[in-house]
Amino acid sequence: MESKICDLGTVNDKELKFAVIVSKYNGKFVYVRHKKRDTWEVPGGHRELNEDINDTAERELKEETGAIKFNIKPICDYLCDYSLEREIDDESYGRLYYAEIQELGELPNLEIGEVKLLEHMPDKLTYPKIQPVLINEVEKRMKIKKLIDNFQVRNIEVIYVPNLECAKNKILNLVPTNVSIGIGHSATLQKMDITKTLNDRGNTVFDKELAKEKEECKVLKKKALLADWYITGSNAISVDGRIVNVDHSGNRVAAITYGPDNVIVVVGINKIVDTWEEAIKRVKNIACPLNAKRAGFTPPCVKLNKCVDCTSTERVCNSLSIIEGQSIKGRIKMFIVDEDLGF
Ligand code: SF4
Repeated sequence: MESKICDLGTVNDKELKFAVIVSKYNGKFVYVRHKKRDTWEVPGGHRELNEDINDTAERELKEETGAIKFNIKPICDYLCDYSLEREIDDESYGRLYYAEIQELGELPNLEIGEVKLLEHMPDKLTYPKIQPVLINEVEKRMKIKKLIDNFQVRNIEVIYVPNLECAKNKILNLVPTNVSIGIGHSATLQKMDITKTLNDRGNTVFDKELAKEKEECKVLKKKALLADWYITGSNAISVDGRIVNVDHSGNRVAAITYGPDNVIVVVGINKIVDTWEEAIKRVKNIACPLNAKRAGFTPPCVKLNKCVDCTSTERVCNSLSIIEGQSIKGRIKMFIVDEDLGF
């Protein structure tokens, strides 16, 4: 069994036995060394009798790092299985926090002998199977938070969900049953099987995958542009707040840009990169070759696994779109699914 991450507040408060605080000071991670050990760990410790778990986190941070001024916030709860690290059967729930320390004072003369500021994880961790999971979880959530903020100021709403099933349920609740919906072709939506579910419950669905021949495919793509809603995947999104896509014929980028009044974009966490420049690189060098192969095209990137800016008749990236924002707030809603999905 591994340390299991649970959503914040889903564990009964009485079950929370300790607090762990992933912390940064001047952009570096704070690690501490217990006086009796030569290994490094994230600050944290056990909850005292009748102590509020948030007070535990603050107290442990002060006692173990000497922090004087800091902003601390809870990230999630988790089940920690210490049998992973020690020859004893011991598991309990804890709460994970993130703290930005503004001022470090003198280290209290308690259990901790040394504090270290590092850019990366140290080699000698006290709990090498548990701590990386917690640190990675905090980094992932901080990244998502930054991404949500950056999209929000660009009038694009982001909904972060744990899995594809959860995204599907939320989408089905959001989209009325009496509207028409265009579908932008995507491996993620295929996996979600959204077209069939929407059709079965009575929505009018324009999905080119339903076409029996080429002309019908063209008609469905055009009808999708004027549907009430549009649901699609995306080739890449960036933490700096951009949605980047390429298209062979351009129907999907047209619909997202100025098609239906309501657009839903569903993306897996694997599509997130830091900047729009990296998003374009991802689209051209990862998404294009895989999508071309899937569609039966053979531009050079299929063999080379990288873009050579071809002018092949098989070129699949004839239209490149960067959505930088929306004039109408909330027209685009983006579901970020905490799973690897599509290419
Ligand atoms: S320009 Fe050509 S080689 Fe580059 S991604 Fe597009 S199809 Fe592939």
